[in-house]
Amino acid sequence: MYKYKRVKVSAPLMEWNERYVLSIDNHQEVMEALAHFCKKQKIKAGEITGIGAISEATFRFLDPATKKYVDKTFAEQMEITNLTGNISAKDGEPYLHVHLTCSRRDYTCVGGHLLSARINGACELIVTDFGLTSLGRRADAETGLNLYDF
Ligand code: FE
Repeated sequence: MYKYKRVKVSAPLMEWNERYVLSIDNHQEVMEALAHFCKKQKIKAGEITGIGAISEATFRFLDPATKKYVDKTFAEQMEITNLTGNISAKDGEPYLHVHLTCSRRDYTCVGGHLLSARINGACELIVTDFGLTSLGRRADAETGLNLYDF
């Protein structure tokens, strides 16, 4: 599903972090592979950045007025110009919050809150494990979001 390499960070203040270079295999689904990786490595809190190429992406837009979700799929070849996300936990499972911006053939970009993306080419990510035992989430009635539960 993917290859990865653990890398050391030399900055003294980051001594508690573990970092991984993660290369997800072609034709895999990004969120599924990331959830699998976090579970396998027991990452409870962290961050994700990355680039790559995809043939399809589905985004979710939350309308704050109605609290209704609007999902939209773009089924075309696109470059991941930026993938940014965080890792926490909800109900004992890895909880990934990922945003993606990707560029189309005509160099315009689309993006948003990522539900799924199918790799068509490469997907190269850096995953940082903060080394925390927990970083939880709770459902927030006002926003309709799963917010951090500090
Ligand atoms: Fe989001």
